[in-house]
Amino acid sequence: MGYDEKNEIQENENWIRIGDLKALHGSRILHPTRVERIINEFIQGGPERMQMVSDFDFTITKQRTDDGGKVLSSFGIFNACKSLPDNFKAETDKLYHIYRPIEIDPHMSKDEKVKYMIEWWTKSSEVTSGFPFDQTEIDDIASKFKHALRDRTHELFEDLQRMQIPLLVFSAGLGNSVVSVLKQADIMYPNVKVVSNFLQYRDGLLDGFQQPMIHTFNKNETVLDGHEYYDLVHSRDHIIVMGDSLGDADMASGVPSSSHILKIGFLFDHVEANMEKYMNTFDIVLVDDQTMDVPRALLELIEKQKLKLKNGGSPPAQLSSL
Ligand SMILES: [Mg+2]
Repeated sequence: MGYDEKNEIQENENWIRIGDLKALHGSRILHPTRVERIINEFIQGGPERMQMVSDFDFTITKQRTDDGGKVLSSFGIFNACKSLPDNFKAETDKLYHIYRPIEIDPHMSKDEKVKYMIEWWTKSSEVTSGFPFDQTEIDDIASKFKHALRDRTHELFEDLQRMQIPLLVFSAGLGNSVVSVLKQADIMYPNVKVVSNFLQYRDGLLDGFQQPMIHTFNKNETVLDGHEYYDLVHSRDHIIVMGDSLGDADMASGVPSSSHILKIGFLFDHVEANMEKYMNTFDIVLVDDQTMDVPRALLELIEKQKLKLKNGGSPPAQLSSL
């Protein structure tokens, strides 16, 4: 059911107009009325009903750094580890050249792609087996990328922590790298949960990845069925989803259909060619925005309204920066 039929909140003197939100001025929005309505739902629902689901690679990390330095993906961090056997890199490259074109093939259906993605992740898991490996190698490389997070990522994580809003970092990459970057940046707060692929060991040697496998096309809350995280958040029906790939928009597709989801997409590569697809997929499209300013502006509105209700009057001045 769309918002147009489901007019459950009323416009009132507290109603926020999308045009008044400075943070959104550079963004592209296909359905501004719908987005305005969801934002007002979020504000009136308060932090207790919110959760955030975010991709990691190039969503929490930047797509472009100020000094032009390359940001490694979470698998890229692992692949840069010196002790990996010679054949590991050759095998991994071989798999990439077979399966990556399938992953991004615009002519193949998603259903058809899934079996290839399972093959890719399964073969990667087999290649990542049978040799010793120490997590400190990942930590050493990840330490170089704790500064590659989007501007104001620390503040965003602090906002979520202060407002007690759960954040699911959902990655089809390598969880060991994701957790290492977040820990070294000091933002792995208790409300942050990372669901991703983690290395597993047997008899002191690597033994592929732990189950369940998270690949590009099952990266949504359906893989969380039976997971403790699902129980924690299933009652939080106001959801902000953030990602840089089209598939990230489905990350909350396992939640109840009554949920209200606002999808924020970070677009950087081939902006003109991708714009239409991104606008049809994400509610808010941010072009070459290497900050967390938009999600923070939304959280600020939610917090401001909560404080206003609590104080029975005007919000404190320091929260009136929008
Ligand atoms: Mg990504």
